[in-house]
Amino acid sequence: MVEMSDININEKPQWCPGCGNFGILMALKNVMVEMNLEPKNTVIVSGIGCNSKLPHYVNTYGYEGLHGRTLPLASAVKIANRKLNVIAMSGDGDGYGEGVQHFVHICRRNYNITYLVHNNQIYGLTTGQASPTTERGQKTKSTPFGVLESQFNPLANAIIHGATYVARTFAGDMKHMKEIIKGAIEHKGFSLVDILQPCVTFNKHNTYQWFQERVYKLEDNDYKPDDYFKAIEKSYEDIISDYKKIPIGLFYKAEKQIYENELPQLKEKELVEYSEPVDIKGLIKEFL
Ligand code: SF4
Repeated sequence: MVEMSDININEKPQWCPGCGNFGILMALKNVMVEMNLEPKNTVIVSGIGCNSKLPHYVNTYGYEGLHGRTLPLASAVKIANRKLNVIAMSGDGDGYGEGVQHFVHICRRNYNITYLVHNNQIYGLTTGQASPTTERGQKTKSTPFGVLESQFNPLANAIIHGATYVARTFAGDMKHMKEIIKGAIEHKGFSLVDILQPCVTFNKHNTYQWFQERVYKLEDNDYKPDDYFKAIEKSYEDIISDYKKIPIGLFYKAEKQIYENELPQLKEKELVEYSEPVDIKGLIKEFL
C-alpha cells in the first residue's frame, strides 16, 4: 500500500503563502495514497508557470518541460509505456495560451491522460499579465485599460474537441477537488480538470472569498454529465451570468476509443519492452 511517506519529498514548495497550488498539491497526494498509485508507475509532467513546479514536490517520476508543451510530453510518455499513470500539469497561460494548439489535438485523440490545469486567471510567474481566462474588462499589468478579448472557455473547448471527462473544481474545497481528481485518474480517456486556483499575490480580483460566494456544485443540482449539448451550455454559465454563478463538478463524461490503444505499433507490447535498441542508422537511411 502506498503511504504518504512514500510520496513526500524533502523539497519546500516555492509558492507564495496562501497560494491555491498548495491545496492542489495536497489533494493530488491524498488521491495518490487513496488510489494506491505507486510512485514508480506514476509520471507528472508540466510546462512553465508557478503550477509547473509541482513535479518537484512529489516523489514520482517528473519532467518540467518547455512553455506550453506539457501535453506533447505527456502523450510521448504514454505512447512509450501505457502502463504508467500519466498526470499533466499546466496553468491557464501555459495550457490555454502557449499550449492551446496541443490542447485541441490531444482532446481529439483522447489519450488516457489526466490533465490538471491550475486556472488562476493571470500569469502569476511573470508577475500579473492577463491570461486567456482573465475576465473581459479586468485591469492587469498588460491590460491597464482592461482586457478587450472574450474569455477562453476551456470546458466548452475540451468537450467540442473530444475530451471524455471534463470537470471543474475549486482549490478552496479539498473534498470536492479530491473527488474530481480521483474520477479523472480512474477515467479511461483524456480528462481535463480545470481548477479554480486563487493567485493571492497577482490576482486581487478572483480571491478565495470571491469564489466562495459564487461557486455551486452541479452534483447538488441533479445535473447528469451525459448530455453533450447540455454540458457545453452549462460551461458558459459563469460567463453568461457575469460571474454571479460558477458551477463546479463533472460537466461531461463519455466512452470513446483511446488513441494509443489503436496504434498498430503497440499491438504486441509497450515500446519500452522492446529489448533491441532502435537501429538509428537504418532509420536515418530510410528517410534519406
Ligand atoms: Fe501562487 Fe500567484 Fe504566488 Fe504564483 S504568484 S506562487 S500563482 S500566489
